[in-house]
Amino acid sequence: TERKNADIGLIGLAVMGQNLILNMNDHGFKVCAYNRTVEKVDQFLAHEAKGTQIIGARSIQDLCSKLKTPRKIMLLVKAGSAVDDFIAQILPFLSAGDIIIDGGNSHFPDSIRRVKELEAKGFLFVGAGVSGGEEGARYGPSLMPGGSPAAWPHIKPIFQAIAAKTASGEACCDWVGEGGSGHYVKMVHNGIEYGDMQIICEAYQLLKDVVGLSHDEMSAVFEKWNQGELDSFLIEITRDILKFKDEDGSPLVEKIRDTAGQKGTGKWTAISALDLGIPVTLIGEAVFARCLSALKDERVAASKILQGPSEKFAGDKEAFIEDVRQAMYAAKVISYAQGFMELREAAKAEGWNLNYGGIALMWRGGCIIRSRFLGDITNAFRTNPELQNLLLDPFFTQVIHRCVPSFRRVVSHSVLLGVPVPAFSTALSFYDGYRSARVPANLLQAQRDYFGAHTYQLEADGEKGEWVHTNWTGRG
Ligand code: NAP
Repeated sequence: TERKNADIGLIGLAVMGQNLILNMNDHGFKVCAYNRTVEKVDQFLAHEAKGTQIIGARSIQDLCSKLKTPRKIMLLVKAGSAVDDFIAQILPFLSAGDIIIDGGNSHFPDSIRRVKELEAKGFLFVGAGVSGGEEGARYGPSLMPGGSPAAWPHIKPIFQAIAAKTASGEACCDWVGEGGSGHYVKMVHNGIEYGDMQIICEAYQLLKDVVGLSHDEMSAVFEKWNQGELDSFLIEITRDILKFKDEDGSPLVEKIRDTAGQKGTGKWTAISALDLGIPVTLIGEAVFARCLSALKDERVAASKILQGPSEKFAGDKEAFIEDVRQAMYAAKVISYAQGFMELREAAKAEGWNLNYGGIALMWRGGCIIRSRFLGDITNAFRTNPELQNLLLDPFFTQVIHRCVPSFRRVVSHSVLLGVPVPAFSTALSFYDGYRSARVPANLLQAQRDYFGAHTYQLEADGEKGEWVHTNWTGRG
């Protein structure tokens, strides 16, 4: 009776796999579960999955024999060789057109390779970014599937049913594009998450050290910010963290060692930006800020030697708090503009047709960067799918024009008071560079030609102009 009647097979019964299976079951899909350590299948069926229509398999062959065709097998195992090992084990039991989906945190070049390898054998492969952690997996993750386009109609009903939903009921899951684009978009999501977190940390330091607010006052400020255009999951949890008291009644956050960890997805986003030649400066600075934080011993030693300004903030505190809010919004718009620049360039380099409005919609709910603002980004790309840059969308141009005066005041005060604001300041510099028809790279080209005879073009001749060299020293 159990032959060929399960809608999907899922391999990997750790936190993510178990919760996704339960979520699929809630939406009426029949799931067959499998795990390398087979005892975990029995345990899962006897406990978490008790009373559901979930079934189990005791081998890969068993799993494949229980699935409807085309088979859909989703992996939620450790990224890396475990994925390739499972693919190799599954292949002998597949028929043409069957689909393997990798829902782990795989690096996109692996997904590009796997799509090619499986398509060459007549199978379909999907690399799906999954965000939202345990809670998301159970009740509605953000899902970012990309790979073999022919797989999408088969997995769409399951994926869109289990995904998070926006307030208007749209699923936070759509087809991202070809190749490794699903995992690429998940990677950029994580990079943007690094940026959003760094922006919030800089705002917190300004409220605490410049304005001198107490933790309850800061929490109230974040509560207010969360009611407006900054409304987002990260602002909301920051509000709660700031007011959280340890057993002795003092704010727990101040007892936490100030060394940031990282698992590498922000670094991957920055590396890819460097490889593509796209100035994704805010995420880059967010990664470096974590690196600087990790140099704790050096910083403690340097703090005893290197001096900063002794001035104190003397301006209007309420006005400055509002300036910080607008600076955060401006920095966020610039960071997302950079993230979408990176996506656009990656799509060009890899030959992907990316659905930008859909990507913003996938990030609208279920994931760590979920926010009201992503609805505005979805609208911008839906209005104009060819939009060159988010900053050039009329809504965001107006936002940035409104926020930039505050943004300049915040960065200026921070610099004068010696408060580090790497994300804020790099975003503002990017903005001022991006809106400049002419930057000082003319001098740079002259220098390169001077010491290395690298040649230059004349402004008057444009990008098709001849490459010329000048003998700058008059020596032969
Ligand atoms: P995990 O701890 O990353 O992986 C555990 C699972 O992988 C177990 O089923 C384990 O099988 C299997 N596994 C590990 N090494 C293996 C190998 N060499 N060969 C075969 N199977 C192997 O589990 P997770 O936290 O649920 O995450 C699953 C995937 O989702 C990962 O790629 C993770 O990065 C990604 N992800 C996680 C989160 C999260 O919040 N946790 C969020 C988004 C994405 P055994 O039981 O036999 O050891």
